[in-house]
Amino acid sequence: MLSLHDLNYCFQLKQLKIGIFKIKMDYFYAYSIFLICFTPIIGTIVAKLFLYAAKKHISLIIRPMKCNVCCNPLHLAEKIPLFSYILMKGRCKHCGKLRTPIYFFSELSSLLAFITILSISKSLIFSHLILFYSMALFLIGLSIHDILTKRLPDLATLPFLLLGLSQSYWLHNIDFQDSMFGAVTGGLMTALIATVYKKLRGNIGIGWGDVKLISAFGAWIGWQLLPLFILFSSVSGILFILLRFIAVRRSNINEQIPFGPFLCISGWIIWLQTIC
Ligand SMILES: [Zn+2]
Repeated sequence: MLSLHDLNYCFQLKQLKIGIFKIKMDYFYAYSIFLICFTPIIGTIVAKLFLYAAKKHISLIIRPMKCNVCCNPLHLAEKIPLFSYILMKGRCKHCGKLRTPIYFFSELSSLLAFITILSISKSLIFSHLILFYSMALFLIGLSIHDILTKRLPDLATLPFLLLGLSQSYWLHNIDFQDSMFGAVTGGLMTALIATVYKKLRGNIGIGWGDVKLISAFGAWIGWQLLPLFILFSSVSGILFILLRFIAVRRSNINEQIPFGPFLCISGWIIWLQTIC
């Protein structure tokens, strides 16, 4: 039988545990909010690096941010990541012309990627948080490169493929055989489609960079999720073309659009499912 004294002690202990848990959760939320606020700034840095890389003159020197149309330096309010683009409606204060949406795309993607990582896993360890977020940043950069140059360089896709094949040894989320079969099937299948399309239509339907990226994602997600990945990427790409056509009537519906960003978004989201 528990005495009144014992019950009182148990109650105090429970309160203490709740108190410690609350402090831990408060720290968790405080860190999360701090990191969430920081992610658009990281997005700006990624955009800046890949913009310079795409223009073939990489410079790590921090220069004042300028309008990409009139080259006038931006005011402090125009430099605030994410919000400045929304507040200014994407236009420069000096010339009134549309500014490049690349920074906004990168800042928003960086923020959404981080929130997605925090929301999908309740017991996320710090090293995994860094790994998942780094992968998202790499894919954001790769998408920017594809948007600007319509190319996915081997220097990025091939190491990404090798890293995907090796993940079964250090992340243990999928089997090596599934990973290898995913890479081979994804690569061969899209290479065949790309070749047949070019023979029939005479123009490029799927670039070789896309083929290598699909093969790399095949390694990351395994062959079982490959059809879902192809479906998601294709549907999101088609939806984007239709929305763009509705929004900008002048746009040509047959105009080639970079497929890399759709592959990156779909591949990354599906890969996260293999971790949870
Ligand atoms: Zn301007």
